[in-house]
Amino acid sequence: MSPLFPDLTLPVPPDRPALRFGDRSLTYAGLAAAAGALAPRLRDAGRVAVWATPTLETAVGVVAALLAGVPAVPLNPKSGDSELGHIVKDSAPTLILTAPGTELPAALVDLARVDVEDVEDAPGRGAPYAVQDVPDTAPALVVYTSGTTGPPKGAVIPRRAVATTLDALADAWQWTGDDVLVHALPLFHVHGLILGILGPLRRGGSVRHLGRFGTEGVARELNAGATMLFGVPTMYHRIAEALPADPDLAKALARARLLVSGSAALPVHDHERIAAATGRRVIERYGMTETLMNTSVRADGEPRAGTVGVPLPGVELRLVEDDGTPLTAYDGESVGEIQVRGPNLFTEYLNRPDATAAAFTADGWFRTGDMAVRDPDGYVRIVGRKATDLIKSGGYKIGAGEIENALLEHPAVKEAAVTGAPDPDLGEQVVAWIVPADPGARPTPDELAAHVAARLAPHKRPRTVHYLGSLPRNDMGKIMKRALKTDD
Ligand code: ATP
Ligand code: MG
Repeated sequence: MSPLFPDLTLPVPPDRPALRFGDRSLTYAGLAAAAGALAPRLRDAGRVAVWATPTLETAVGVVAALLAGVPAVPLNPKSGDSELGHIVKDSAPTLILTAPGTELPAALVDLARVDVEDVEDAPGRGAPYAVQDVPDTAPALVVYTSGTTGPPKGAVIPRRAVATTLDALADAWQWTGDDVLVHALPLFHVHGLILGILGPLRRGGSVRHLGRFGTEGVARELNAGATMLFGVPTMYHRIAEALPADPDLAKALARARLLVSGSAALPVHDHERIAAATGRRVIERYGMTETLMNTSVRADGEPRAGTVGVPLPGVELRLVEDDGTPLTAYDGESVGEIQVRGPNLFTEYLNRPDATAAAFTADGWFRTGDMAVRDPDGYVRIVGRKATDLIKSGGYKIGAGEIENALLEHPAVKEAAVTGAPDPDLGEQVVAWIVPADPGARPTPDELAAHVAARLAPHKRPRTVHYLGSLPRNDMGKIMKRALKTDD
């Protein structure tokens, strides 16, 4: 048994702000009252779907489910009917939690619905609800993966994994109840929900959610005393673009205790532009729905562009060659698949015993499908995903990420993605997908090849270049490489 999560009996002053979304907020006492009032209605439910808009209601609904000991399934309100239909059929919730007045799409109208009501602070409301005594191996959440490489899979996340990952991050980031987080991420993935909402609550700290991301909101909250920002690379890209004309934003970022990026690789170019304009280095952490967080640059460590830092406390991490042999040397060059083991791992993919079995080695290591190298000091550098980012060309294994980083340094390139395509001579050839900064002034394929060859080894230069108006990205801003297609 234990540790119970979240522990709303933390020694937190009851009037401390817990959550704020726009102009609506809840103190710790208010949160305990609102979630405590809802929890008894959930106790007999099987799984509880949560219509995860960026609102107080979503946060209260998830906390109530945790208090009641029933697994919550956050749903992306922007999903289409077919994806929602798939997720609801797969996860079979017995009811759905919504904010009052929500109009649900057709795929969900048959679900029993419970409105999350009266979430704003009201003095003198009921006593906190006692946390149900459930084992820490019991599921806390079923979170669907981002669907970057295929249809989303439901990862069953035990309570223990949530608690240990948040405590490991507290250690790595010196994260305390004094921290105030600026949040602008969606609440149906690990990043926005587990790190961004449950993380501050576990520490007794505060969250200020912007509703939607904007550099003005980030600057306003950091200037008003917020200490941390969690973002995905597309947000840091927008920050990097805005900085030259916005000294107020630069001042605000310089003030933050911690700027954290995750969910996808942060381009080196954006990392460096932000460092140059603010004197602050964004730190990167690496995780997955299935594993929660695996590595991070530590708050007391040396932030370095292009690395995701070191394994978090309690996480065992190794790099493994194609034939299953673990790499032993940290030489900054040998590429292997990241495999992890530890209390941060999920239990299974819902209804997919074969996929679950295939994801683990016989001795219990989880195969992440991500490829990386380790520097001599143990820092992990992600090369890309085994399935889409590793190009086997002319006897070399080439990572898409470093070529993308090189292309992004070209002033005429706004966005870049690199893939492999079959080639009769080379096996595979390097293909670049470019969004030009000015559609009327495309950099030529020869110019881009020369630009890459001048920075990296010549065999890494793109042999084919496609030009697009934008790259296909999902709701976390991740590039969907399987959706890259030429216009013609
Ligand atoms: P699906 O599994 O459905 O294809 P997904 O893998 O994108 O989608 P998530 O679990 O949300 O779904 O994302 C985890 C993946 O995100 C990791 O496996 C890794 O490829 C990538 N990732 C996360 N953080 C980082 C980071 N800091 N740098 C590079 N890649 C990262
Ligand atoms: Mg994945």
